[in-house]
Amino acid sequence: MIISVASGKGGTGKTTISTNMALALGSGVEFLDCDVEEPNAHLFLKPVIERTELVTTPIPLVDLEKCTYCRKCSAICRFNAITVVSHKVLIFPELCHSCGGCMVVCPEGAITETGRELGEINFGARNGIRFINGRLRVGESMSPPLIKRVRSEADPEKVTIIDAPPGTSCPVIAAMNGADFVLMVTEPTPFGLHDLKLAVETVKLLGIPSGLVVNRSDIGDQEVFAYAEREQLPVLLTIPFERRIAEAYSQGRSIVEEFPEWKERFCELFHKIETIIQKRSTTV
Ligand code: SF4
Ligand code: SF4
Repeated sequence: MIISVASGKGGTGKTTISTNMALALGSGVEFLDCDVEEPNAHLFLKPVIERTELVTTPIPLVDLEKCTYCRKCSAICRFNAITVVSHKVLIFPELCHSCGGCMVVCPEGAITETGRELGEINFGARNGIRFINGRLRVGESMSPPLIKRVRSEADPEKVTIIDAPPGTSCPVIAAMNGADFVLMVTEPTPFGLHDLKLAVETVKLLGIPSGLVVNRSDIGDQEVFAYAEREQLPVLLTIPFERRIAEAYSQGRSIVEEFPEWKERFCELFHKIETIIQKRSTTV
């Protein structure tokens, strides 16, 4: 079972929810931090990192001895990542989407592949929770391939909790696609509502069942709740603003470990999600 925890904007408490649910469920759970531009789940889960793997993506390498400058490679590349100027073939690695099209069309077999570093994946564990995170190389903009690589580590036999990147663009879709459930996290403010609406539309397009956690539920107004009702988006957990929770968060301490009464609430959150997934599987 894959649960992707997402939010339309950063700073809503997405990582707080995903890490606390993982800690509440405990041993046997798998946690994938797909927020590869700014992974911070490790600050709360505190895993022991056992190994690190470099992740690269293939980009073309041209053998000018074989090249006849026919331009077929640049003609097929819709990303303008390869171009032929006079007797030079220029490659722009940052634009390359690694589709391999140029290699396929080259009539001289002049193009082979080399690797461009995207980032790294760290593998670890804590108290039986398997932990994997991706970390994008500084200056790298192509995060979906790294996210997909982290996603490929999901064990279908386990409960997998994914911390998705914030927003609604390609990286988020890479982290949500194929999940059994998307748990959206928001706060009851106009900004929170605006970004929640975008996230809900994205999840609808993917056809994944979803639910909502409202963080700092007693600030702002009731518009988020009214919207959730209109959209038939179940509010599965509300977390009021509490100074002690904010303090624990700012010091990298988890809610469920600091305040045991919250462990049960996060377990209940998981069981509500499980019930929704089961109901859907019997009706589809
Ligand atoms: S398709 Fe091959 S031969 Fe033609 S310009 Fe590109 S690299 Fe050279
Ligand atoms: S691999 Fe695809 S994106 Fe990259 S240069 Fe070749 S055609 Fe363009």
